[in-house]
Amino acid sequence: MIIAIDGPAGAGKSTVARMLADQLSMGYLDTGAMYRAVALLALTHGVDCEDQAALVAGLAAHTLDFHPRPGGIVITMDGREVDQQIRSTEVTAHVSLVAAHPEIREIITGAQRRVLGGGSWVCDGRDIGTTVCPSAELKVFLSASARERARRRCVELNAAGVAANIDEVRAAIEQRDHLDITRNASPLRAADDARHLDTSDQPINEVVATIAGWAREVGV
Ligand code: C5P
Repeated sequence: MIIAIDGPAGAGKSTVARMLADQLSMGYLDTGAMYRAVALLALTHGVDCEDQAALVAGLAAHTLDFHPRPGGIVITMDGREVDQQIRSTEVTAHVSLVAAHPEIREIITGAQRRVLGGGSWVCDGRDIGTTVCPSAELKVFLSASARERARRRCVELNAAGVAANIDEVRAAIEQRDHLDITRNASPLRAADDARHLDTSDQPINEVVATIAGWAREVGV
């Protein structure tokens, strides 16, 4: 049983997916975290994020593991947990370059499907409804205005003690969206059968309630 939640950066996917998974007693898989781990591996070992062959070799030389645990996954790189490091500004700035390579996507999509197995998951990302789980029972495409998405990222960054300028954050988000939408391999787009929800003016609880209602409709 899969609920797929796709959409651009900062649309509220991870917050909504986490709350929904909790409410429905399902696992939560943050697929962006897995691409972030590949970017972290590249940055840590001096691999060029634009060089697909070097990235594939980096993945062969080091060990990225995605361990399921109650409610989500733990990511380790060569045995060390990296859940914090993958959130750095540097990783965020490079992740879309890494995620554009078809061979990297193939490797990570395979790892995602292994984690999902036959279980019940709320899974968020960019290509869950189109590529990773095209037969998901419920597909949702979340969006929000660029201004609102930048505002939310600033709040998150400030809460983490990082100073943020809204115009710079917005430019970075738009740049990442552009790379995600225009790449050839599994670009960011809504599946034809996805239900669309604009979260710009909706409190998170209402968004979760709407999707939980859709989940009941489809028998999740
Ligand atoms: O969700 P998050 O913002 O952490 O995702 C980081 C990046 O990972 C995205 O900007 C995108 O380049 C990539 N990604 C992807 N496919 C997914 C999830 C994330 O290409 N399913």
